[in-house]
Amino acid sequence: MAKEYIYKCVNCGSEYTNQEILYLCPLCAKENKEGQPLKGVLKVLYPYIEIKNRLEIQPDYLIKSDYIDLLPIHTVDSFPPLLVGKTPLYTYKQEGNIPFFLHLKVESSNPTFSFKDRASALVSAFAKEKGIQTIIAASTGNAGSSLAGICASQKQKAIILVPEKAPKAKLTQVLMYGAKLIPVKGNYDDAYDLSLKLTEQKGWYNRNTAFNPLTIEGKKTVAFELFEQMDVFPDKVFVPVGDGVILAGVYKGFEDLLELSLIDKIPQIIAVQAEGSSNLIDNLIGEEHHFNSASTLADSISVDIPRNFYMARDYINRFQGLGIKVSDAEIIDASQYLANQFGLFVEPAAAAAYAGLIKYQIEDQIVKDEQIVILLTGNGLKDIDSVFKSLDFPKPIDPNSFDLDMI
Ligand SMILES: *Cc1c(COP(=O)(O)O)cnc(C)c1O
Ligand SMILES: [Zn+2]
Repeated sequence: MAKEYIYKCVNCGSEYTNQEILYLCPLCAKENKEGQPLKGVLKVLYPYIEIKNRLEIQPDYLIKSDYIDLLPIHTVDSFPPLLVGKTPLYTYKQEGNIPFFLHLKVESSNPTFSFKDRASALVSAFAKEKGIQTIIAASTGNAGSSLAGICASQKQKAIILVPEKAPKAKLTQVLMYGAKLIPVKGNYDDAYDLSLKLTEQKGWYNRNTAFNPLTIEGKKTVAFELFEQMDVFPDKVFVPVGDGVILAGVYKGFEDLLELSLIDKIPQIIAVQAEGSSNLIDNLIGEEHHFNSASTLADSISVDIPRNFYMARDYINRFQGLGIKVSDAEIIDASQYLANQFGLFVEPAAAAAYAGLIKYQIEDQIVKDEQIVILLTGNGLKDIDSVFKSLDFPKPIDPNSFDLDMI
């Protein structure tokens, strides 16, 4: 039985019913140039009216079926055996001047310790249903380590192209999971271009972020979980942003629920970027875009060209999202605060989202008793170097002669 869904181009609106493998809108893809955000990123749309009718008869069927009608695969059995998503959400009542409810969504609980597993799992499931054995991706770190781990669990082969200087822990993961690691001379763009060539020549399936529309569809599942896990619907969700695929995924998940009248509004999404890598929020208005080369210690959100720029920008503007920039020093502070106040050690990109909240609080933008969600997108052990420098490492003491007052 064919599964019903269509692809719609974010730039020109063309629709494709093609059930075969489709990446970018073929019309818009022709305009793509090196060093530019992707034109022709596709959004997957479902037969919402039919699903709505079914929900009237059986209100809990979507939840019971793990939202299969809102995914471009036939069965959830195609997903990896590892538990992807269904991550914990911890709630804290924050007192203080303006009390509010803080909800921390701990995405580092995913199998390879980052949010990227949501996208990899769907891409892997889709490949499995299409009988494709090999998946390739260009990545600066987490997307690659995620695809490698997910593929290992599915007995699929992963080929990971990385720019020369990707973080060590993430590359170690790729190799441990048994994927083929190909470091490419140059930057992410060079690795990216080569991955497209290999996709074409070898017939492998490609997981590049935004290029493959299923990366957005996979990431949207976090919105479904928030919808289920929270007694009170979130007012605001803080999302760390690099290429803008997590951001678009969060929006898309809520948009699906809105289409089905399961919710009546979309939470305000706060896009948090590093001061040294703010190409999305610096270009929210106007037709002329200027992309500056990125520099931040938060490697997962260090992005020269936000690949999913057009879709992310459209969502932010349509649903009154907001952008906040945080400095590297604020990211490190937030990282230490999360670790010592909540026992949650997350990587700098994830801490950036929390740093965004601190800034927001200082600017007095919080509304009394509102429900605020922070996506903690990756684990702190993936990048210890960036926090190590800010720690005071104690000197060893002589166990036979030391001053008791020193301890
Ligand atoms: C990839 C990533 C992000 C940013 O996601 P985009 O889709 O590139 O905006 C944030 N945090 C972590 C840990 C990531 O790996
Ligand atoms: Zn198009």
